[in-house]
Amino acid sequence: MEQDIQTDNHHASHLEHPENEACYTGLQVNTGVEQPPAINPYMKRRRRPQLTVADYVEGILAGNPAILGQAVTLVESKAPEHQQVAQEVIERCLPHAGRSRRIGITGVPGAGKSTSIDVFGMHVLKRGGKLAVLAIDPSSERSKGSILGDKTRMEQLSVHPRAFIRPSPSAGSLGGVARKTRETIVLCEAAGYDTVFVETVGVGQSETAVHSMVDYFLLIQLAGTGDELQGIKRGIMEMADGIVINKADGDNIERANLAAAQFRNALHLFPMPPSGVLPEVMTYSGYYGINIEAVWDMIDRYFDAVTRSGYFEEKRRNQERYWMFETINEQLRLNFYNNPEVSAMLEVKERNVRLSRQSSFTAAAEVLDFYFSQLKSNS
Ligand code: GDP
Repeated sequence: MEQDIQTDNHHASHLEHPENEACYTGLQVNTGVEQPPAINPYMKRRRRPQLTVADYVEGILAGNPAILGQAVTLVESKAPEHQQVAQEVIERCLPHAGRSRRIGITGVPGAGKSTSIDVFGMHVLKRGGKLAVLAIDPSSERSKGSILGDKTRMEQLSVHPRAFIRPSPSAGSLGGVARKTRETIVLCEAAGYDTVFVETVGVGQSETAVHSMVDYFLLIQLAGTGDELQGIKRGIMEMADGIVINKADGDNIERANLAAAQFRNALHLFPMPPSGVLPEVMTYSGYYGINIEAVWDMIDRYFDAVTRSGYFEEKRRNQERYWMFETINEQLRLNFYNNPEVSAMLEVKERNVRLSRQSSFTAAAEVLDFYFSQLKSNS
């Protein structure tokens, strides 16, 4: 038998390789051996058992982080059947949600967000309770390594049993990504997470989205770059409930204090925020753990003040209203753009407008008329 195989091999390789011709001696090319598969073929792929809505809800309410994670995956899924289950799970978790402090954290890349979240998070956990860290980064795509998604950036929290870290939902429209994060907050709260951080990179529009889902918005700034107030969009300053200057350590302390003074002055130029609490400015060092407690006391003071004044509840109610409209807008937009006839018509209209054959207004009106008439005839 072995003999047969060898002869066969020899025969085959003889055909493919001229080196095996009789005239070449001393060189023999053998047929290669097929590589074994990298995955053990005997190991059956175990399919995760399908959880029912009741299973998810029960697991979440019991504070099971694995089930919470799976439910978040469902929320993030684009598949309509997943979405349907996700919406039911969210609906049933809603009565158990809302009992957390939601804190948005923003700052430009390199400001020290992850270092700080790690330290602030550990500080919060020292008091007990559970912490969820979520992120909004519409530019991220998990497979390509999201800037905000890398769990290892939060060394201590990532191994803490009472912390749940979830990277940004993968790339999509900001509205879509933000809605998913907002829904994830509901699930985390139902699972007993009483502090929720929502991290976002301090560029672009994502701060507005985060601002619309948190109770407190913390802006992390750097000193010593020589352009303290420059590059900070007025909008972000106005949204901030507190400003902290990071990296106030070593020979940077002086500059950090100076920057803090400049921020305080600048804040006086803005109208009083609707919370009725003038944003405080502090310096700290996330890396060296300096002033962490003071920063957290500042945040506590805010929560005390707005809870007493009733602004906390008022803001939450306004946010609910905002999210209702956001969801409607998002669904309308999807329904419109995912309609195959509309998108075919849009292609034509787009060309017409580009070639100045039609004005943008008539083109838009015609597409919308078509869409609405289609809706009417379907009803
Ligand atoms: P992110 O991009 O905003 O998440 O910033 P990182 O947390 O990744 O920090 C960016 C860099 O700044 C890292 O090299 C950190 O080690 C460093 N860093 C963060 N916080 C501090 C700090 O308080 N002091 C100093 N000196 N460096 C810091």
